[in-house]
Amino acid sequence: MKKITRRAFSLLLLAAFVIVGLTVYVLRYIDHGADWALYFNRLNSASSGELLDRNGVVLAAFSANENRYAEDALTRTANYHVTGDYWGRTGTGILSTYWNKMQGFSLLTGTTRSSAATTRLFIDAGLNNTAYAGLNGRNGCVMVVNYQTGELLCMVSTPSIDPADPNAEPPAGTYINRALSATFVPGSIFKLVTAAAAIENLPNLADRRFYCEGKTVIGGVEINCSGEHYTQTFEQALANSCNVAFAKIATLIGQDKLVEYVRNFGFLDTHMLGDIPTAAGTFPLEFVGDPELGWAGIGQSTDTINPYAMLRYVSAIANHGILVEPTMINDGKRPVKSRFLSTETADKLREMMAYNVSYAYEGDFRFTGLPLCAKTGTAELGGDLTSHAWFVGFLDDPDHPYAFVVLVENGGGGLTVASPIAERVLRHCMRME
Ligand SMILES: [Zn+2]
Repeated sequence: MKKITRRAFSLLLLAAFVIVGLTVYVLRYIDHGADWALYFNRLNSASSGELLDRNGVVLAAFSANENRYAEDALTRTANYHVTGDYWGRTGTGILSTYWNKMQGFSLLTGTTRSSAATTRLFIDAGLNNTAYAGLNGRNGCVMVVNYQTGELLCMVSTPSIDPADPNAEPPAGTYINRALSATFVPGSIFKLVTAAAAIENLPNLADRRFYCEGKTVIGGVEINCSGEHYTQTFEQALANSCNVAFAKIATLIGQDKLVEYVRNFGFLDTHMLGDIPTAAGTFPLEFVGDPELGWAGIGQSTDTINPYAMLRYVSAIANHGILVEPTMINDGKRPVKSRFLSTETADKLREMMAYNVSYAYEGDFRFTGLPLCAKTGTAELGGDLTSHAWFVGFLDDPDHPYAFVVLVENGGGGLTVASPIAERVLRHCMRME
């Protein structure tokens, strides 16, 4: 008797497994059916198509007979995280994300489009090559967007790989697109966020002075500065990238208010670059008290930022407070615009970022001839880890309206390590029509 009950129970369990399995399969078919069908098509594609950069450079071409990439190895490697590959190994690549659309696959009939399809990008493959060369073997990312049109001209993530080289050994983390899919401690570039909140919430800001003697004690905790800046205006405090001043400013603003700005600027959200989702950043949301809030206000504490979210922010500042959402695929759609910051706040930040370049980097002839507005960041990671080097900003030039983000992971100082890459990329931009 006992044996029969056990057997009946086993059968019941088996039936339950079959039903659950079938349901999961059907749901997954609806969700991923096109991927499964087209996976085989990638090797034996029914349709044909091309992926082109803004100048018509072929980044990928597929047909029933062969799947190809760009002709030269540098273009293939520098543009790998834009293009992706036919195996879908990097999730954010166009070939991974848009493969079904490019094939025109129908889930019901199982057929693909018969005519050749062309997908055009706003990306400039040559500019990506310059950014890749600038990163010079170090891990990080570079992005450039036209802040008036939203055209994403440059997106490079390193380490990278040549997708056409069957023997290429991918270094650790190759398949992660650092520009879109990762977050990093921001360090001093975060002072641009704290500054926006200060401009709109601290009365008599123009009359205030911030005193720095190299360190300060907030709530019994010492916060160190990079130098002794003595008496400073608000503008000078940003140009000095003074930790003492900005930690103090963060405590004056208060945590709730600062969180509101971080949230409103989209730093805690996932964004969509077309169909590609980005990673959400972090900021202390639970009450932390003044010393920790001070650290959070200067981009340390538990702050992390996604480089793409930072690109949106500097792009909106550059465009007088209106954000034109970046787009990578040129499909003729109108750009999406929204009010991101008030014109007054954006223009104050523009002015401060211009002042920052003339005041803090004075005598740095690297930037001669570039109408540059920018902020450096050197994000301390604690322990023996080398800091992240950041350089973010834009060109104040109607003929070259470009905003940029450069990050070198564990690279060192923002000015010494990240800014020369930005300079090289921006000089390339200045030569473009
Ligand atoms: Zn200072």
